Amino acid sequence: MIEFKNVEKYYGKFHALKNINLHFEKGEVVVVIGPSGSGKSTMLRTINGLETISSGELLIDGVNIRSKESKLSEIRKNVGMVFQHFNLYPNKTVLENITLAPMKVLKQSETEANDTAEKLLKRVGMWDKKDSYPSMLSGGQQQRIAIARGLAMKPEVLLFDEPTSALDPEMIGDVLDVMKKLANEGMSMIVVTHEMGFAREVADRVVFMADGEVLEDSRNVVEFFEN
Ligand code: ADP
Ligand code: ADP
Repeated sequence: MIEFKNVEKYYGKFHALKNINLHFEKGEVVVVIGPSGSGKSTMLRTINGLETISSGELLIDGVNIRSKESKLSEIRKNVGMVFQHFNLYPNKTVLENITLAPMKVLKQSETEANDTAEKLLKRVGMWDKKDSYPSMLSGGQQQRIAIARGLAMKPEVLLFDEPTSALDPEMIGDVLDVMKKLANEGMSMIVVTHEMGFAREVADRVVFMADGEVLEDSRNVVEFFEN
């Protein structure tokens, strides 16, 4: 589904990703861990085109994202993203936050987009807040809405960039519960997080990065955390 082949990324002279070779499969829940500044976020952001790679190949469903036939808008339809700081549209209601992209990008009718939004908001426990604005809600509530928004495009994979790092401790559990539910339903997920409990419980695979390199890529998650 997503394949990194000898990928390098420089920010100016700074070498942020060093010879990355990774293959993410459909249905996998991959947790990416490692110290701050190790390139986790950069790696994630290259997948949906928020960062460009400097060299190597990045294939999404077999299409090289730097080739002429690849279109960023097409990639973003298939690759949803949840950010540390929610990034909801502040001047739109919760419901509008969810329906905007499906109506604009997928050309769904308002009725269709609203139906999908209702299902998703009920799933994350936020349907009763559909008419609220993001600023009226807690971080945990906003993040659950951001997850619903990510799912509204029916992506093949959902990327999470430290989804609980900006939350008050008492909010973290609700967001992790939503993520666990998605994982159990077979959603393909790549999750950058410091939540080791979540990783141990939910991950099919753990990727450990340090200093721009992948140092471990393990499917023996239990064993990984014992060592
Ligand atoms: P992580 O997610 O593991 O904390 P990042 O991918 O955010 O790591 O960052 C890796 C390194 O690249 C850090 O040293 C960071 O300062 C640097 N970096 C990230 N984004 C940029 C940027 N836009 N310009 C320059 N350096 C950047
Ligand atoms: P977040 O975790 O919410 O993404 P970050 O602080 O990691 O916030 O990064 C915010 C933005 O700043 C990103 O677009 C990232 O690429 C950029 N950035 C991070 N580190 C650097 C850096 N050393 N120099 C320039 N830009 C950076």
